[in-house]
Amino acid sequence: MLDSRQVTLSYDRKIQKTPTLQHGSLMQQQQKFAGTAPAPDLAGGSPEDVIDRIETTIVDVPLRRTHFHSSGTHGSQSYVVVQLFTKGGAVGLGEGVTPGGRAFWGGESVESIKATIDHYLAPALKGCSVFAHERLLKLMDRAAARSNFAKAAVDIALHDVVSRLLDTPLAAFYGGKVRDSIPVLWPLATGDYDRDVDDALEQLSTRRHRYFKMKIGQGDPEADVKAVSRAIRAIHAQFPEACITLDFNQAWDEQTAARWLPALQEAGAALIEQPVPAWNAAGMARLASRLDIPVMADEGLWDLHDAYDYFTRGATDVFCVKVAKGGGIRRAYKAAAVAEAAGIPLCGGMALESSIGTAASLQLFGALPNLTWGSETIGPRLIADDLATEPIRYREYEVLIPDGPGIGAELDTDKFKHYRRA
Ligand SMILES: [Mg+2]
Repeated sequence: MLDSRQVTLSYDRKIQKTPTLQHGSLMQQQQKFAGTAPAPDLAGGSPEDVIDRIETTIVDVPLRRTHFHSSGTHGSQSYVVVQLFTKGGAVGLGEGVTPGGRAFWGGESVESIKATIDHYLAPALKGCSVFAHERLLKLMDRAAARSNFAKAAVDIALHDVVSRLLDTPLAAFYGGKVRDSIPVLWPLATGDYDRDVDDALEQLSTRRHRYFKMKIGQGDPEADVKAVSRAIRAIHAQFPEACITLDFNQAWDEQTAARWLPALQEAGAALIEQPVPAWNAAGMARLASRLDIPVMADEGLWDLHDAYDYFTRGATDVFCVKVAKGGGIRRAYKAAAVAEAAGIPLCGGMALESSIGTAASLQLFGALPNLTWGSETIGPRLIADDLATEPIRYREYEVLIPDGPGIGAELDTDKFKHYRRA
């Protein structure tokens, strides 16, 4: 019987002897000898189901109130509306989004998303079957490195058109809904902690929200900690059931975080999000081991590969799965599966999507069994107007998952024309 060392050695020898590694893949070899190009891969669909064109349009929608956090402030939200047309005339709807539509959060903006799709992603996908999803993702990777937000916008449109062609809700692709609604958090991000307390008490007394995310880190750390601790205690004094998480958006260094996070835990914070810069995964792991409450990565954890790395390092206790940041629904699902394997619970994240992007995210979040930290999908409540004919609905602390077909949202063409950038 072979032991594991022998298996490894014999496997290594096999790889060294494999000549095709030096001369291209087996498929390339076969094509070379056959002397013909491969037939178009329709992936089980018909010639009608190939991509004819992808159109992108930037829209600018006002917010109900200015949104503050330590790395940026914005009073409107911009989107890239993506419309993917097949040769047969089917249309898939997608949405490109970053916080504020600007580049401060992750390096992409609505302008760069539109340019990446128009110049690189759309030409790469033209003529390919919408049913060849994995192949299309690879083609997008070859056309543009990183660019997760741009790829996500196209990925949503692909999911939408395929699920419409099959006349099914998108959630069915990922096992179907395991819930009809998800607890949804309200961001306490007025830029003033006293106003945040009033906002939270209003949300609690009207039974709209009891799960909150407070943005912290813009000011002096000691003053911030005192003010935020006071705010948490003031909310808990009236509503002990309130769950208050704190998002630092990378504002502190590790020493500052190690000095002050225990005080915030003591004050009743439920979770600490991205206290240190995105690059400091080791620091996240050290902070997570010092605290009893969970520490959650955001800016430092983008896709399924980061997820695997963070989980094995112990650098995040909760995984905030985000469709836009994660490069689309399919890759967000894969990252969520990595989290499930690691026993890491999920939170359904957002990038201030309209009802179009929110519907797409909710189709996925509704199908994830380990989504026990609720959802942040509050974009439709923060924008002053919406792009969908039927905006996402909310009901007593929760957001309702729309039915299909597709992502479960339709573009309101009047609003689209009104808000499109000239
Ligand atoms: Mg965050």
